[in-house]
Amino acid sequence: MKENIEYVLKAICDACKKANRNVDDVFLLPVSKTKSVYDMEDVISSGFYTFGENKVQEILQKYEYFKNSKIKFHMIGHLQTNKVKYIIDKVSLIHSLDSISLLDKIQQEAKKRNMIVNCLVEINIAREESKYGIFEEDLFDFLSEISKRDNVRVQGLMTVAPYFEDAENTRIYFRKMKLLFDKIAKENYENVEMKILSMGMSNDFKVAIEEGANLIRVGTLIFGKRDYSKI
Ligand SMILES: *Cc1c(COP(=O)(O)O)cnc(C)c1O
Repeated sequence: MKENIEYVLKAICDACKKANRNVDDVFLLPVSKTKSVYDMEDVISSGFYTFGENKVQEILQKYEYFKNSKIKFHMIGHLQTNKVKYIIDKVSLIHSLDSISLLDKIQQEAKKRNMIVNCLVEINIAREESKYGIFEEDLFDFLSEISKRDNVRVQGLMTVAPYFEDAENTRIYFRKMKLLFDKIAKENYENVEMKILSMGMSNDFKVAIEEGANLIRVGTLIFGKRDYSKI
């Protein structure tokens, strides 16, 4: 695991150099879905304390295990409205705000608890049928809706790019995301800030960094292949 992390950190460094960016501006989020808490402890010992997860049940179990530590979780997978209540106070960022109904639910549950919930708006940048997320042209209306809901704070945007063996092919999508991100940053929506641009995974994070990502979500390259037969 240590070697994997070193490999990823070196690749982040190289991508930053290539793009003339500061390496401290890129946050590495290890994605621990399907992996054990013991695997996670390995990564924690390398100095990482925030993990990406995509299943509510798994977050609840791992949250319980790490309860008295400084470990934090980001919800990066699609979130069903009926499950919001279980994790709303257990994750520090929801990457997958992708519909008005989810927005309403988060607002409702956050208000009940008198808390502010940090979210990213997920964009379906390549308009894939198989993916969640808001279409580009609907984003401005969506942000207007967010500005009416006081317990939700949008911190930026997230996307899952289409998979290509050659990551170069994802570049146009990451570029589109950065343009969108910069455009919204100039607008003045209440409850909306553009601080986090979450894009890039094991196969395409270098290209994502070159195109302006400041949070990358890396699972396989750190933890190894996932075995879905065990869960
Ligand atoms: C699983 C997952 C990742 C990590 O994917 P890898 O290819 O294993 O790096 C990143 N983002 C999301 C939304 C995921 O579900």
